[in-house]
Amino acid sequence: MPISDHTTTAWAGVVQEAVAEVRTRIADARARGGHGQEVTLIAVTKTHGPESVLAAYAAGVTDVGENRVQEAESKMAQLAIPVRWHLIGHLQRNKAKHALRFSLCHGLDSERLAVALHEEADKAGRTLDVLLQVNVSGEGSKSGIGPADVPAFADRLQALHGLRVRGVMTMAPYEADERVLRTVFSGARAARAQVQAAGHDAGWLSMGMSGDYEIAVEEGATHVRLGTVLFGGRT
Ligand SMILES: *Cc1c(COP(=O)(O)O)cnc(C)c1O
Repeated sequence: MPISDHTTTAWAGVVQEAVAEVRTRIADARARGGHGQEVTLIAVTKTHGPESVLAAYAAGVTDVGENRVQEAESKMAQLAIPVRWHLIGHLQRNKAKHALRFSLCHGLDSERLAVALHEEADKAGRTLDVLLQVNVSGEGSKSGIGPADVPAFADRLQALHGLRVRGVMTMAPYEADERVLRTVFSGARAARAQVQAAGHDAGWLSMGMSGDYEIAVEEGATHVRLGTVLFGGRT
């Protein structure tokens, strides 16, 4: 897919405005929440072409999120800009090697995946930054480990020196009311404290999407993953 200048220009203004608006809302939410954290805006470009990444970068965004390895690698191959790539979706064990292309993997959700990632990082003589995905809401449709399993899992991850566990990622139920969202997000914050208590340098909290990022930031999110509010709906 060639990257058309025309499309890039058409997107640029719209995305720039959306990024400015979102940054203001993040700053306000951060002030209301009082956690004092730094917040990284991750532009989620899944289903959109490489020009979406260019538009985000032109608007000053340096972190990009994709949920599928193949789609992400196709964009990486077409672009030569210094953004950090985040893998925000579930990763299959047989694709563990591809995780090394990303600066942060948000979806560590099983011990088997952890071992596979550790082995790939170790083979490459490096470490891989990961977030523990916690299924706070307990919805069957979501991946992630249960909150009760976090301390023991975090403890076992200490043995895998190929991984650097940097924090916790969670997804809230879609269109839940504010009370439910706050319960989920504060639950993720509690899970992060348990990961830290297990000895990991795990200050990060990846939570908040287009419909709920302001509440997530109020509850302490350090990374928000935004697609729709920046690029419009996905078809
Ligand atoms: C798609 C996706 C997002 C972005 O969702 P929007 O509602 O479009 O902002 C965030 N996180 C994950 C894990 C996703 O898969």
